[in-house]
Amino acid sequence: MSLLIWRGRKAKYNKYVLEALSDGEKAAWDIAKYIVKHDPAHVRRNWYHQAQKVNSNLVRRGGVLDDLVEGYFIRREEGKYSLTILGFMYVLYHINYAGWKPAKDKLFLSYWPIFTGMMAEILEENFAQYSPIERLAAVGLAEVFRVYPEKPPLWVQKLWEEMSSSVMQRLIEYLTLGKNPDELSQNEINRWVLEGVFEALKNCFRIPPTEESKQLISIMCNSFQKLAEEDKLMVTQTFKTIVHDAIYHRIGRRENLKKSFIEKVKQTQPHQIVCYTKCPHCNYNGFSIQDGFKILSSNFTLQCEKCQKQINIYSKTTENMFT
Ligand SMILES: [Zn+2]
Repeated sequence: MSLLIWRGRKAKYNKYVLEALSDGEKAAWDIAKYIVKHDPAHVRRNWYHQAQKVNSNLVRRGGVLDDLVEGYFIRREEGKYSLTILGFMYVLYHINYAGWKPAKDKLFLSYWPIFTGMMAEILEENFAQYSPIERLAAVGLAEVFRVYPEKPPLWVQKLWEEMSSSVMQRLIEYLTLGKNPDELSQNEINRWVLEGVFEALKNCFRIPPTEESKQLISIMCNSFQKLAEEDKLMVTQTFKTIVHDAIYHRIGRRENLKKSFIEKVKQTQPHQIVCYTKCPHCNYNGFSIQDGFKILSSNFTLQCEKCQKQINIYSKTTENMFT
C-alpha cells in the first residue's frame, strides 16, 4: 500500500506514531519518547532534548499529528491520541505484510474497549440501512460489545483472526482500486466487519466444531430471534443457499444421491431447508426437509423426519446438516 503517509519526509514519523499508539492511547509527549527510544537516528545520550525536538515536530500546526488526525488515521481527544479504526487497520496490515513489530493480539486487546462503545453506536444508527444478514451480524456483535465492554471473551479472541482477514481483504481491494482512504467512512468499515462476522459464522459449520464456533452460532441464533419477520425469511434463505451448496458440493458424482437431494429441494417452501440427517434415535439416514426458522433459532437443532425427535447437528454420529 503506497499511500501518501508512507512517502516523503514524514513517512518515518507517521509509522512510529501509529506503532506507538498500537498499545493504546498516548499523549504527544509519550509518543515522542517512544520515537526517540525506537528510532536509531536519535542519540540516546541526549534523549530529553531529542524528545523535545521530536515533540515539537509532532505537535506543531500542520505537523505529523495534525496530518494523521486530518487523514482519519488517529483521533485526538482531551490531549490524548489513539488509532481510529482506519489507523488500526493500517497497523494490522503492516504487521501482516511489512513486518511491523507490535503484536496483533495486543493491538486487538488494547483497542477493544476503545472501539466497542463507538461501534455499537454506529451499528445502531445505521441499522435501517443494513441488509438482513448485516442486521443479524450487527445484533450479535452489539450483544458481544454490551456483555464484554472491557475485554473480549476468549472465543472472540480466537475468532478474530478469521474475522479480520476478510476485513483486511476488503481494505486491500479498496486501496488497490486507487480509492482515497480519506473517503473511507467508519460506516463502510463497520459493514466490512459485519461481513467478517458472517464469514466466520459460515466457517463455524466445520466438523468437529470448535468451542468458539459453538459460541458464535449460539450468539447468532439469539440475534436471529430478535430480527423482524421479513428479515428472518431473508436470512433463512441465505442460509438455505449456503447449506444446499455445501451439500451439493459434497455429493460430488454420486448421481443417485444428487437426484434424491434435488427432489427434496423441489418440495421445499421458501423458509424450508433440506438437510442431511442421521438420526441417533431411530437410525433414519437421509435427506429431510427442515423448518429454517426453527433451525436458526435453536442452535441448529434438526428434527428427525421419521421419529420427530431432536438431533443436534453436533451430536456424536453426525455428519448431519451436510453429508
Ligand atoms: Zn429418528
